[in-house]
Amino acid sequence: MKIIKKVLRPAYEEEVLDHLKCELCEATTMNEDDWGESGYDVLETKVSIEEGKRYPNDGWGVETIVDICPKCFKEKLLPWLISQGAKIRKEEWNS
Ligand SMILES: [Zn+2]
Repeated sequence: MKIIKKVLRPAYEEEVLDHLKCELCEATTMNEDDWGESGYDVLETKVSIEEGKRYPNDGWGVETIVDICPKCFKEKLLPWLISQGAKIRKEEWNS
């Protein structure tokens, strides 16, 4: 016969994203990298470098990320890149 007893399991804490804040201004978003105001808006930014090793079944490394809002991307980062000689490329997309 199984004798059953009740045991109180401790609750666990989990880290979840509260919001993302632009590193250059006070802009915030509740999403990971989408700064759009509605669920249908696409307004994503990502400035990062990924370094490491990638093999067919494995990989590891470090990703260095700068959280930047679309306004700072367009008004601060792009002008700086252009001033450094960068040629900016725009590509249309659809899904
Ligand atoms: Zn910003």
